[in-house]
Amino acid sequence: MKITRIEPFILHVPVTGSQIADSTHTITHWGVVGARVDTDDGLSGYGFTGTHAHLPGDRLITACIADCYAPLLVGEDARDVQRLWTKIARDPAMQWIGRAGITSLAHAAIDVALWDLNAKAAGVPLWKLLGGQVRETVRAYNTDIGWLSIADDKLVDGARRAVQQGFTGIKIKVGSTVERDLRRLEAVRKAVGPEITVAVDGNGKWDLASCLRFCRGAEPFDVYWFEEPLWHDDVKGHAALARATRIPVALGEQLYTVDAFSEFFHQGAIHWVQPDVTRMAGVTEVLRVCDAALAYRLPVAPHAGDMSQVHVHLSYAHPACAVLEYIPWIKDCFTDPAEVVDGSFRLPTEPGAGTTPTEKAWAAYRK
Ligand code: MG
Repeated sequence: MKITRIEPFILHVPVTGSQIADSTHTITHWGVVGARVDTDDGLSGYGFTGTHAHLPGDRLITACIADCYAPLLVGEDARDVQRLWTKIARDPAMQWIGRAGITSLAHAAIDVALWDLNAKAAGVPLWKLLGGQVRETVRAYNTDIGWLSIADDKLVDGARRAVQQGFTGIKIKVGSTVERDLRRLEAVRKAVGPEITVAVDGNGKWDLASCLRFCRGAEPFDVYWFEEPLWHDDVKGHAALARATRIPVALGEQLYTVDAFSEFFHQGAIHWVQPDVTRMAGVTEVLRVCDAALAYRLPVAPHAGDMSQVHVHLSYAHPACAVLEYIPWIKDCFTDPAEVVDGSFRLPTEPGAGTTPTEKAWAAYRK
């Protein structure tokens, strides 16, 4: 299965409504930026990273794929996923210019495409290639009802609607003012009752003092986790918060390597582990994080940077995974979409990683 060609692509897909915001970003589209990897046996694999649909930034990623990675890969055997991961990550020129950021996002797209190819070649969905189904269901939690840009009354309506649709978990964004966010949390908890898990997500906006104040007010509302309370790389701050509150700490969507996660594990700074195949260098590096989390007996809740397309396979196959984020923006762009039925993700059935775009998405969103 020799790699013959690597073709980068950019899709910009609209978000729910005309725009959404968390504490740090306001966006109108989600960027699906990736690569199609062709082989001499006629199969193509698709992989992508996730962006805020910023075309100049997206073009840096596709340039990295086309100009830096494609020459390393064309002519290689696509079955050698681990070796090719290492070839890219440890290429002397590439290692010098980046072990994070654009080079990692581009590497993610390539690695996911290789896993997609290998699953297609084996004629099985990726979860089967990863070792098979280890759980009956993967519980979904809904983030799309909880944006900071949603008005208080609409937030409560959306939370109720998600529960009526079968979701047993939701997440709401925080990081505006402590007072407003506590008010919204209390209203949502009252609306959904005690049986639904309610997580909060600060997107790294607050300092430790604000987080401590928020947690003191939030503890009575049974918060499932506090996600990205502090700046993404602040191990010491997260460890201090984890010691000071009964609310579990979650993070990982902006970490790039297993080494970065290891520091949080060592320092007792994390309870829920949230790697993302589209930010780390693909499935290969996220599997290392999942294995390390298992060794620490920490549950994994993958981030929906790929809007669950690849993560649903991972969640069915890895023993450390516990629950998975649901954001529906891009699911209909793929031939085997990450669908939620009765509050759980449907087990994917098509061969591959669920990353093959539909003709319709290709025509509508390609940049
Ligand atoms: Mg988050």
